[in-house]
Amino acid sequence: MVITVCVAVYFIGANYLIHNLDQKLDIQTSSQSSQNDQSSKTQQSESNSTKDTQDWKLTLVNQNNLIPENYTIEVTELNNGQAIDKRAYPYLQEMMDDARAAGLSPIICSSYRSMEKQTRLFDEQVKGLQNQGKDYVDAVAEAKTAVAYPGTSEHQLGLAVDIVSEDYQLLDEKQEETPEYIWLSKNCSKYGFIVRYPNGKTDITGVIYEPWHFRYVGKEAAQEIMSKGICLEEYLEGSSSSSSAKS
Ligand SMILES: [Zn+2]
Repeated sequence: MVITVCVAVYFIGANYLIHNLDQKLDIQTSSQSSQNDQSSKTQQSESNSTKDTQDWKLTLVNQNNLIPENYTIEVTELNNGQAIDKRAYPYLQEMMDDARAAGLSPIICSSYRSMEKQTRLFDEQVKGLQNQGKDYVDAVAEAKTAVAYPGTSEHQLGLAVDIVSEDYQLLDEKQEETPEYIWLSKNCSKYGFIVRYPNGKTDITGVIYEPWHFRYVGKEAAQEIMSKGICLEEYLEGSSSSSSAKS
């Protein structure tokens, strides 16, 4: 499977112009699956009493929760070379269709990444830093601030997409000023998506504010998360105890 993914070079990406990909999202080929035939059981480090932590839509992947070793999904490939978990695809398509019907021009510039792809992106980041004179240990540490360490990227779940405005394709905070982001952040929960790395939650998520990274969690969770202004970690921990996530 060949998937073209725009490298989300978060920090050095200030001047990184994303390729203007074909915006049409109709299915090109359907149902590509990973070779591993083991079923995908999600694993959560936190358990709670009311939320179904085995729910595939709520799988938590971050620096402390690696993607499950045998995680397997079937993806739907989009015409622009992007791909998403086929279970989330209809909701993404509907959201993009409605955004376009509202006169907007959102572009999906990054989506599913295999472990191999994420590893390659990370290794390229490390090499680039080494070429700038950094030793390996420092290069790895710095690379982790820009590209998720393999196994810790939500993009490996197939449930995350980076969406930018056709008129502003940089992955930086100014993305939040685009009409596309304003519409998406207001409406995404109706389709089951959340702004996964909100402003002010970096110490919980471990990821900088990313007003372009949307994650599918299902409508119920999305509406609670977006209406309360919390992040996925806080949502998942919310019912397990009275204490909130670390601040
Ligand atoms: Zn992303």
